Amino acid sequence: MKSKRVLITGAAGFLGSHLCDRFIKEGFRVVAMDNLITGSLTNIEHLFKLEQFEFYHHDVSKFVHVPGEIDYILHFASPASPIDYLKIPIQTLKVGSLGTHNLLGLAKAKKARMLIASTSEVYGDPTVHPQTEDYWGNVNPVGPRGVYDEAKRFQEAMTMAYHTFHGLETRIVRIFNTYGPRMRLNDGRVLPTFIGQALRGEDLTAYGDGSQTRSFCYVDDLVEGIYRLLFSDYAYPVNIGNPDEITIAQFAEEIIKLTGAKQKIIFEPLPQDDPKQRRPDISKAIELLDWQPKVNRADGLKITYDYFKSLPDKELKPKDFVSYNK
Ligand code: UDP
Repeated sequence: MKSKRVLITGAAGFLGSHLCDRFIKEGFRVVAMDNLITGSLTNIEHLFKLEQFEFYHHDVSKFVHVPGEIDYILHFASPASPIDYLKIPIQTLKVGSLGTHNLLGLAKAKKARMLIASTSEVYGDPTVHPQTEDYWGNVNPVGPRGVYDEAKRFQEAMTMAYHTFHGLETRIVRIFNTYGPRMRLNDGRVLPTFIGQALRGEDLTAYGDGSQTRSFCYVDDLVEGIYRLLFSDYAYPVNIGNPDEITIAQFAEEIIKLTGAKQKIIFEPLPQDDPKQRRPDISKAIELLDWQPKVNRADGLKITYDYFKSLPDKELKPKDFVSYNK
């Protein structure tokens, strides 16, 4: 019997590449697609030698054509960190909207099941805490994060419309802050920024007074949750994240302790519309998917730190790094 074939967009990115690994491991044929704007081929280089792996260098906001059968589509293409979507706001909007529409069309034509990568950003700067899936959010559509948040909100609406109007099988995962190997050191997100600063001997830049919170999930846990959601029969959004919440100032302390850095924490202005608190309510994932995160932050951070330490020295010097709070 021929194994099932899955199309993964954003395959050369942080999450996409881990998903490629998982589906290959589970015996699927993987069609990987990426336009390589924020993704890197080094993340999937090890898969090119496999007969069950193929790669398309393509931007999904343009018409998507893949010959042959496709059983599942996982749409993970998108800039995903604030400095990225500030640098390429139009592409961010296009990949979430036009890209999603193209892929939904492809899913319909191929009779494939489609899972989209949504985000805790659909909740904006939340007034409900922790965030449950039935909370509608507090998003500023014209603020700097609006291009990402609204693209993802549109993406959810479009996906539900294909589900209800065309009867397409769809799944929506709302991903909370995730970390692990293959994050880009210069993507501006807090964990690679702090670890990069620690490794370069610079002070750690906490924004605002550092009292804003996030809840960090290790990538393997996230991938397990996504895998279970894809094979569940639930079409509405499901939060996948680790509810272990921490302030950014405490997080900086943890990184200093982990890396043995001698530097201090310095405080810089808080970027506009930066959510004050974020923690997933994962009751749905527990109930529907029997899923809970397993990797605690200390273990996950250690693995991630070892990964960053193993990178060549030149990668520690971000070429085009621009802080997004200035
Ligand atoms: N942050 C920080 N210092 C940095 C980078 C980020 O204090 O050098 C803060 C940022 O303001 C936010 C939190 O860390 O409150 C998480 O930021 P990130 O960009 O990782 O993800 P977000 O959850 O905001 O999308």
